[in-house]
Amino acid sequence: MDKHFDVIIIGAGPGGIYSAYELMKLRPDLSIAVFEAGNPLDKRHCPIDGDKVKTCIGCPTCSIMSGFGGAGAFSDGKYNITNDFGGTLYEHIGRANATKLMEYVDEINMTHGGEGTRLYSTSGSDFKKRCIQNHLKLLDASVRHLGTDKNYVVLENLYREMKDHISFFFRTPVEHISLVDGGFRVDFEGGSATCAKCVVSVGRSGSKWMQQVSEELNIPTKSDRVDLGVRVELPAVVFEDITKELYEGKIVYRTQKFEDNVRTFCMNPRGAVVNENTNGIITVNGHSYEDPALQTENTNFALLVSKHFSEPFKNSNEYGESIARLSNMLGGGVIVQRFGDLERGRRSNEKRIEEGTVRPTLKATPGDLSLVLPKRILDGIIEMIHALDRIAPGTANDDTLLYGVEVKFYNMEVDVDENLETEYPGLYVIGDGSGVTHSLSHASASGIYVARRIAM
Ligand SMILES: Cc1cc2nc3c(=O)[nH]c(=O)nc-3n(C[C@H](O)[C@H](O)[C@H](O)COP(=O)(O)OP(=O)(O)OC[C@H]3O[C@@H](n4cnc5c(N)ncnc54)[C@H](O)[C@@H]3O)c2cc1C
Repeated sequence: MDKHFDVIIIGAGPGGIYSAYELMKLRPDLSIAVFEAGNPLDKRHCPIDGDKVKTCIGCPTCSIMSGFGGAGAFSDGKYNITNDFGGTLYEHIGRANATKLMEYVDEINMTHGGEGTRLYSTSGSDFKKRCIQNHLKLLDASVRHLGTDKNYVVLENLYREMKDHISFFFRTPVEHISLVDGGFRVDFEGGSATCAKCVVSVGRSGSKWMQQVSEELNIPTKSDRVDLGVRVELPAVVFEDITKELYEGKIVYRTQKFEDNVRTFCMNPRGAVVNENTNGIITVNGHSYEDPALQTENTNFALLVSKHFSEPFKNSNEYGESIARLSNMLGGGVIVQRFGDLERGRRSNEKRIEEGTVRPTLKATPGDLSLVLPKRILDGIIEMIHALDRIAPGTANDDTLLYGVEVKFYNMEVDVDENLETEYPGLYVIGDGSGVTHSLSHASASGIYVARRIAM
């Protein structure tokens, strides 16, 4: 192929999808192409079936992270409408604008299969007071919970609406971007295409590639943050007061020992803990379904500590990867430990986990997280579990399960301006791949924002 398009979008995650959708609506006259490394939605299948294939076999393109829908396709579909977390889009486009765009994304979701899902809100919640009384802070947000099933339906509907107007190229990872007269050229195996405007939205799975492109084009970047911790799994009833009212409580705790902030992240009421593969390293994550038939008896959420590095260390993700690799080395993948075993300084084993009252939703290797996580991080997590126990009694039970490690890699931040445009006019970097966003709603909103700039 050697073709010219008005706009090329690289990556069909939420950033790329909403950008393509909005452009199609605003400028039907433009020729738009989307290049995606992974498969179309209906061809995305992770081979882990819990029976023949129990653990990750390292497929060339991970179906969980790549393909139409991006990393969000099988996610819990929690769209947090807030500037308090999920990214720093507001720093580029202003708080009011960012909120409006996230609300607009919600409208699109509601008209494409998400109607009837609940919008939770922290405003007016009594829970805020209980948190403050126990040295915890509840962050403000409205949360639309689509659930993994409805999230999938929304993606199916968006694709159906776009596929006859936009050229989608699946299983086509872009290798290089270069500057040409009047725009850009993208190269991929067996060909290239040119465009006047190029929107790069490659997410977390494209982080290494984004780094390479930034180096090739001399676009400044910085990478100084990684979040490390564990995924907590406990009986759903323990957190039901919180999850029934808020669905997801984003709670922050400041540790007494080190004055570090530990926070809850990605809460999945009646959900399941899952493996996540980032560049071949197995970490842990979680999701849940809106459909009661697919729900479990447990709730899971991450407890994370942010590490910010300063000179001379420049690669925070490598630090996170090294720790995740250590857990992979000891456990062959994700390690699981009972909270009681962790506090007693002993590793968990199959027998103790089986005898416990919490039935694990992920097959992980029983082990000892204190051999993996740095003491300061582990101490912070233990402190926060006890603080949470005061607002949700039962959190610090011996049988509470901790899976490790959960790593939240932050893509390096690419230098973009208030239009999310690089120093090369017409070259935009959006979504998680830009380092500006870290969530479905922010990534999607950044896509809409750039589409509107291009459509002007
Ligand atoms: C298991 C899981 C659960 C999650 N749950 C939630 C949640 O409930 N709420 C929330 O807000 N966030 C959640 N997230 C995070 C959320 O999915 C991401 O923030 C969001 O998907 C980012 O969107 P994006 O478009 O920027 O990137 P991505 O979704 O990562 O999409 C990028 C796409 O670009 C493609 N790509 C990469 N490199 C190239 C290349 N060189 N050429 C062509 N294509 C390329 C990838 O294959 C991918 O499909 C979850 C993530 C995971 C993994």
